[in-house]
Amino acid sequence: MRVCWIGIGGNLGNSLEVFDAVWDELAQQSDLKLGIRSGIYHTSPVGQHAGDTFSNAVFSLSTTLEPAQLLTRLQAIEISLGRKKSVRWGSRPIDLDLLFVDQLVMDELSLTIPHRAAWYRRFVIDPLFEVAPSLRHPLVIQTITELKVRLSTRPLIIACLDSPQPQSLDFASRFPGARFVTGDEPASIGFQLCGVPLASIAHGVPIADLTNTPGDANQRITDFLTSVLDEPSRVCDW
Ligand code: ADP
Ligand code: MG
Repeated sequence: MRVCWIGIGGNLGNSLEVFDAVWDELAQQSDLKLGIRSGIYHTSPVGQHAGDTFSNAVFSLSTTLEPAQLLTRLQAIEISLGRKKSVRWGSRPIDLDLLFVDQLVMDELSLTIPHRAAWYRRFVIDPLFEVAPSLRHPLVIQTITELKVRLSTRPLIIACLDSPQPQSLDFASRFPGARFVTGDEPASIGFQLCGVPLASIAHGVPIADLTNTPGDANQRITDFLTSVLDEPSRVCDW
């Protein structure tokens, strides 16, 4: 049995009802066993067409299913609950991401584990911090608590490893919680628009891989900064 962590989010319809429907559907599947779940957080939408505030949470389950089989199950539930494959990172009733599978690391065309963005998205890290603070990210080699602390410092020093430099695009005024430096200076985290295999680390600084994120450079950096600098609020138990 492997312990899997799943991120759940949405911003169309009644998210609590949708999240409950996911939970009830998975509870009926005999080859997996549901574990614990976090409270529900309100978070900033990420993506040019993402719409209004999202609700996010995380939960665990144990299963002998292969990760790809589990993702297929999750995608079937997304579709049954009305998710349409239209705009990438658009508004949606439900998004299910496979975040961690024990300490497994895999990178295939349609499935990357850990999820590429798990370690820097506050809408993932904050709910995980509530229920799994000592969970370790196998690539970034930090616990969820360490990542939460790393991301919560202000100003957050962010290294930009390739062009365009954020200073030239007015990011400093749009994201006052951040200070931007080049790749040679000390930083808390970094990002690169192309060419990073999975989460990589340069000079001890974890580097976010934005290679496959949607939009032009301006949009991709905006989305990254929004998810990193967000300060989610816990709105209720789930
Ligand atoms: P995001 O996962 O960044 O929120 P989407 O849900 O729009 O964005 O992306 C879904 C695509 O990501 C799917 O086609 C799926 O094959 C791929 N994918 C790769 N790794 C994972 C993962 N760990 N969990 C969920 N989807 C993944
Ligand atoms: Mg997804």
